[in-house]
Amino acid sequence: MQPDERTSLLHEDSLVPTVTHTTHSPRQSKARIVFLACGIFLIVFAIWALQAFARPVWPENGKVSFKELKELIKTTPDPNKARQSTEYYTSGPHLAGANLSQVLWTQDLWASYGVKSHIESYEVYLNRPVSHQLTLLERSQGGKIAEEGENKVLYEARLAEECFKEDPASCDPRRIPTFHGFSASGDVTAQYVYVNYGTVQDYEDLIKANVTLEGKIAIARYDKVWRGMKVMRAQLLGVVAVVLYTDPGADAFQEANGDLPYPYGYARQPSSVQRGSVLSINWQPGDPSTPGYPSLPGSVRIVPEDMEWLPRIPSLPISYEDAAPLLEALNGHGPSATSMGKSWEGGGLGYRGVEYNVGPSAPEVVLRVVNNQAYEFTPIHNLIAVVNGTEEDEVVLIGNHHDAWTLGGAADPHSGSAALNEIVRSFGKALGRGWKPRRTLVFASWDAEEYAMIGSTEWVEEHLPWLSDAGVAYINVDPGVTGSKFYASAAPLIHELLRRSTKGVLSPNQTIPGQTLADLWGSGIGTLGGGSDFGAFLHHAGIVSVDMNFQFSEDAPPFHYHSQYDSLTYMERIIDPGFLYHRALAQLWGLVTAELVDAPILPFNVTDYATALKAYIEDVKEILKQSHSAAIREHHFDNLTSAADRFFDTAITFDSEALALSQTICRKDSLFMRWRPWRENDLKSKAKHVNGKLRALERQFLYEGGLDDRPWFKHTIFAPGYWEGYSGVNLPGLRESIASDDEEGVSRWDKIITKVLHQASDLLEQ
Ligand SMILES: [Zn+2]
Repeated sequence: MQPDERTSLLHEDSLVPTVTHTTHSPRQSKARIVFLACGIFLIVFAIWALQAFARPVWPENGKVSFKELKELIKTTPDPNKARQSTEYYTSGPHLAGANLSQVLWTQDLWASYGVKSHIESYEVYLNRPVSHQLTLLERSQGGKIAEEGENKVLYEARLAEECFKEDPASCDPRRIPTFHGFSASGDVTAQYVYVNYGTVQDYEDLIKANVTLEGKIAIARYDKVWRGMKVMRAQLLGVVAVVLYTDPGADAFQEANGDLPYPYGYARQPSSVQRGSVLSINWQPGDPSTPGYPSLPGSVRIVPEDMEWLPRIPSLPISYEDAAPLLEALNGHGPSATSMGKSWEGGGLGYRGVEYNVGPSAPEVVLRVVNNQAYEFTPIHNLIAVVNGTEEDEVVLIGNHHDAWTLGGAADPHSGSAALNEIVRSFGKALGRGWKPRRTLVFASWDAEEYAMIGSTEWVEEHLPWLSDAGVAYINVDPGVTGSKFYASAAPLIHELLRRSTKGVLSPNQTIPGQTLADLWGSGIGTLGGGSDFGAFLHHAGIVSVDMNFQFSEDAPPFHYHSQYDSLTYMERIIDPGFLYHRALAQLWGLVTAELVDAPILPFNVTDYATALKAYIEDVKEILKQSHSAAIREHHFDNLTSAADRFFDTAITFDSEALALSQTICRKDSLFMRWRPWRENDLKSKAKHVNGKLRALERQFLYEGGLDDRPWFKHTIFAPGYWEGYSGVNLPGLRESIASDDEEGVSRWDKIITKVLHQASDLLEQ
């Protein structure tokens, strides 16, 4: 049998000289000496060659093999250490730009794990709460506007969360007031209307039902879409202020059903308030004063009047305890919510006397909304650790944010911070044992995510030239653990790696011994939308991204999102006692990262992308049929379809060649290859070539002009929904053109997407 790369050198007969023991003539002896000398030379040469060429051949990688690295990642994360991190972070307030001491603490911690980091700061435009007031008034004089003090106060909203000694964070004098990031200051008194979730459809339903919105105040429940879009849509319809509350109707445990509220039971605490940003981040994230470029000292700033994604009307977040009296005062006024359509059902405050009428309120019954916000330029601080790899032009990044709306933030963001610290500790151990990553690895702890993903956006904008060349993938976690159900959203290239990695982590739920995260996960992977730090990486820079976490399920106690009850106490008592999901998260996050960093061929599956693209196009063809415009309905996507078919065929060929190359490189008995350095060099250059294509692939789908009306979003395949925000959509340009009956837009986006698909095929076929 002819030797090849699969043939083990150590079993190669011809390399072991045979010595026979017979009687020899002097001539024979001389020949024997020469033969022996040759044999010894060959053995010495073999040992030398093995030494000389026994360079890293994955997975037997240098001083720490890939197997050992994976073992370290699985065994290092420690629930107790995760708890310690959380305890520290939740011990003081840390709003965006007001958390430097925590950043320095993390920096010291990472240094103690052997990972050096540095701080990268920006100066950004932010607001801080000054004062607020929300009053339900009855006007005197039959509904005419009366002088101050002449109106009867029907209800004064508390606008604060209650203190319970059972949860010490809720009584801390440093706790942060309830407010909206980027809300407008104002003092407005008007009749008000209940607008359901405040989605585009909800407002349309109201207009159809002849409910006047102009000049009114809107009360909306949270959920369905990004809170900023509720406010922006209202503003565009002439609404003068917005009040947002969390309705308990969808909770598994409810006061209405006799469940006691937190801290005495599992129902939502009635005074809890969801703070949060109301900037239209799905139109323009990052510092609103520097759209598209970094907020460095001396950067040119645009004035607030030009920030079209900044709301102009005041808004307040309130609890359902504060919302109930306001909604109750709408009883009997205007249509009942349930008559408006199915999506209007499900309100959970009936037990507090709310009948869910839409309003408007009686002419003499008005709301007064007072919101005072101070805007300022504030330094924010990202913590960045760079571990250089041997392939310095290939970089893998992982991160989460460290700013929080409340003093606690045990889940959001610190379940992620705690897991990240454990990953840094795991990789730190490997580094201590001499591990050298193949690719450069970056750990990031972002500031000001909560306001508008500002820390990550400014950082990506500053480092765009480097990332556009070297960016391989960004793995985000936020919030990491709000329950026990695993969720992931990701770009299709990385789906297979994600699914494979979940098989390598034991679930904290061991009702069946040995079950892994994969066993309990439906393996559905969502489309990346908006609302966290992956946005700048995927949508602006075209870097393959993932966002993953353990979320609360429908049958679990609620997550007190952006409330002061997102505390260490709540985490320990209800969400993750024992911090076992924190450990599982760190293990999974670490495994995905390790393979991205160390696999000789990037673990991306192009066929998955091509399959997804074909499905997206078919979906759009279905949507097209519903268009009001006959011209749009008759549009054919022939060129786009054939471009997708070409990309699919190209992907299959590319993936099979990449797999074959990967198998050749990874073959365990590939020592033979080391005898042939030219062969190794050949494989290395082939790997470099293939990896270069794989890391550039996602960027082929960028379009420099960006999406219509939001040019910062350059990805033609994925974006947060224009009016949704959190949820992601595919082929956004086409979908939005169809939705707005824009025939020209449909043709234009058809051409743009066809072009980027061919561009991607060209790259792979080169
Ligand atoms: Zn968060």
